[in-house]
Amino acid sequence: MNAYQNALKQLTTAAEIINLDKKILKKLNQPDKIAQADLSVQMDNGQEKKFLAYRVQYDNSRGPYKGGIRFHHEVNLDEVKALSLWMAIKCAVVDIPLGGAKGGVVVDPKILSQLEIEQLSRAWVRAFQNIIGPDKDIPAPDVYTNPQIMAWMADEYSKLVGQKTLGVVTGKPLDQGGSQGRDKATAKGGFYVLTEAIKQLNLKPENLTVAIQGFGNAGSVMAELLFQAGYKIIALADSKSVIYNPIGFDIDKVIEYKKQNKALQGFAGSKEISIEDFFALDVDIVIPAALENQITADNVNDIKAKIILELANGPVTPGADQILQQKGIVDIPDVLANAGGVTVSYFEWKQNLEDKYLSEEEVNQKLKEKMITAWQVVWQTAEKYKVDLRTAAFITALERIAKATK
Ligand code: NAD
Repeated sequence: MNAYQNALKQLTTAAEIINLDKKILKKLNQPDKIAQADLSVQMDNGQEKKFLAYRVQYDNSRGPYKGGIRFHHEVNLDEVKALSLWMAIKCAVVDIPLGGAKGGVVVDPKILSQLEIEQLSRAWVRAFQNIIGPDKDIPAPDVYTNPQIMAWMADEYSKLVGQKTLGVVTGKPLDQGGSQGRDKATAKGGFYVLTEAIKQLNLKPENLTVAIQGFGNAGSVMAELLFQAGYKIIALADSKSVIYNPIGFDIDKVIEYKKQNKALQGFAGSKEISIEDFFALDVDIVIPAALENQITADNVNDIKAKIILELANGPVTPGADQILQQKGIVDIPDVLANAGGVTVSYFEWKQNLEDKYLSEEEVNQKLKEKMITAWQVVWQTAEKYKVDLRTAAFITALERIAKATK
């Protein structure tokens, strides 16, 4: 259940199939750099508190390091290392010229005030100012970080270097150098890939039921897109509860309810179920969009879905992966399914550097092209090597990374 061990196992499986150059595999078996700091924050009560923070830079053979920053009380070094390796693979799968990195802070942001979160975000930038930058390493939002936090980070970095440097982070608000379409990019990317997958499997949206775990940026936008496309969403989970309605949810109303109540619990007409029952539902598509290690050897045998779309990073453990394959369940891996976020982050970074901005339609069109191409390459690679989609995505990425490294 160690995310980094899982990520390395996925890497090794793919590397063995293509007989990856031993030197390159050795290099990819560890990050380029691990940076760690104790961030000091002046709390609203006047006391100073310390928070442990990380930045892991995994590989930059294809371009500057790139990866989000997570604010969560369970952040740990192995998790950040895993996420940074997956970023390197992901950027190569969608063929954007960026490497992999990730950051985190061990903190429960839900109990901090906005001012404390701002201090924490600015302190993170001060701590890692020498290793980040638009040509070196470009952070972005992840779990419990958002466009406002990115705006504070860009502002802090700009002050430190003495000039406005929008390209230092992505996922910024629109009026602070953000890109059109970034807010919905992760879910949209996943949606485009899922649309291709169901075509390949001769399935139709209106006949398909869906369960989504996580109702944040990735999960709630995905629910909205699927609802609009005619899928029936029968179960939703956030960190506090799981709600179920076999008739299907009106997602616009759920989004409004979650905004007002900060929770899904108590939504009209829903029944509360356990997370064990959630994964065992008789449903066509399960979409983990929360955290790692959700589908494991313990619950994989209960899964009845035909398709799993991994919007979260690392939601399926390698042990569970094997059983999914044996059961013939199509598991669309994180490094492909959620790559839409970093793809539009790449567009944002490029727009900042060139000071030329794209319309929402242009961004969505470019995103769609990238995601469909990536899906096709991964599907063809899976057929060529007779492997599952995750191994195929890793093979695609490793071949590109190896070429760049050489
Ligand atoms: P977010 O902070 O916007 O939302 C997180 C959601 O997960 C919230 O609804 C929260 O209630 C829920 N959650 C937390 N713990 C949970 C638990 N134990 N059980 C059920 N739900 C739980 O975060 P996000 O940006 O939507 O990220 C979700 C996942 O998607 C993460 O794995 C992240 O790494 C991945 N991801 C996000 C992006 C992006 O652009 N936002 C890009 C790629 C991957």
